[in-house]
Amino acid sequence: MRSCKLLIVGAGAAGMSAALSAWEAGCRDIILADRASRPGGILHQCIHEGFGRRESGSELTGPEYAAMLAGKLERSGVTFLPDTDVLSVEADKTAVCSGKSGLERICFEQIILASGCRERTIGSLPVAGTRPAGIFTAGQAQELINLRHLDPGNEVLILGSGDLGMIMARRFTLEGRHVIAVLEQEAQYGGMARNFHRCIEAFSIPLRCRMTIKQIHGENRICGVTAEHIDSGEREFIACDTLVTALGLIPERELCCKGVEGEKWLYLAGNCRKVHDIVDSAAADGERIGKMAASGFYM
Ligand SMILES: Cc1cc2nc3c(=O)[nH]c(=O)nc-3n(C[C@H](O)[C@H](O)[C@H](O)COP(=O)(O)OP(=O)(O)OC[C@H]3O[C@@H](n4cnc5c(N)ncnc54)[C@H](O)[C@@H]3O)c2cc1C
Repeated sequence: MRSCKLLIVGAGAAGMSAALSAWEAGCRDIILADRASRPGGILHQCIHEGFGRRESGSELTGPEYAAMLAGKLERSGVTFLPDTDVLSVEADKTAVCSGKSGLERICFEQIILASGCRERTIGSLPVAGTRPAGIFTAGQAQELINLRHLDPGNEVLILGSGDLGMIMARRFTLEGRHVIAVLEQEAQYGGMARNFHRCIEAFSIPLRCRMTIKQIHGENRICGVTAEHIDSGEREFIACDTLVTALGLIPERELCCKGVEGEKWLYLAGNCRKVHDIVDSAAADGERIGKMAASGFYM
């Protein structure tokens, strides 16, 4: 059985930062496992600038920032284990993993979960109608456009004005697609002012507040939605061929078996602990947790 002092699950911004700070703090036996074949996590699909201000003072793109951290990782003695899906974390301080050579257990002294988060889907809202093609979460649309160079659709309605919703409104516009509107249930946009100015205002994309959707229309492909004005209850039909939902993120920490949460040897970092709006703060969190876990060995 493979073993290590510190096992870190997830090599996104938080996991890589945790590994680097634990290494710098003197922990010399670290495995960083990720189900993907390269480190970076969600950063690879964030091709816009705005990352790494904290470290470099400049605005890097997501892939550039991932490459910077991955470079530091390579120069350290941290063992990166790619293509390794951690299936569960057990109370006997082992993690069950599925890798290229099949199932294996990794035995550890401490573990940091830096497994990120998942997106809330349309299923989380009371929306009537079928679920035809053309409905994507913002993260799925971001991956399709930025990583796979595919075209999700032309007439795009975005539900939710958090950072991801606003970033995707700009992305679709830059791709030459028509963003009909961003609908928001609250009285103002949900994300950062910086993203509102850079992504919505700068591109004159309509932001319609106090609105939600009640029904999806279309058979094979979505052809529109029934939207509701929350204050008046009035409804209107909005034609679209693409609906992008940006409804929030949920920390991904279902890996822990019964009785494991609350153990002193278990740490959570980055979006897995608490959803961070920006990568820099997820990385800062990873850095702090990595140091804390490493100091556990020397107390
Ligand atoms: C879809 C999406 C899009 C985003 N877009 C932007 C953006 O455009 N701009 C911006 O500033 N911020 C964006 N954010 C927010 C920002 O990216 C995050 O705050 C930050 O990158 C999170 O870092 P992380 O390391 O916590 O998670 P992630 O980057 O999500 O890393 C988690 C890693 O864990 C791995 N993993 C998960 N479960 C397992 C497992 N069981 N076994 C092995 N490996 C596992 C994953 O493969 C992944 O590499 C986005 C977030 C999401 C979810």
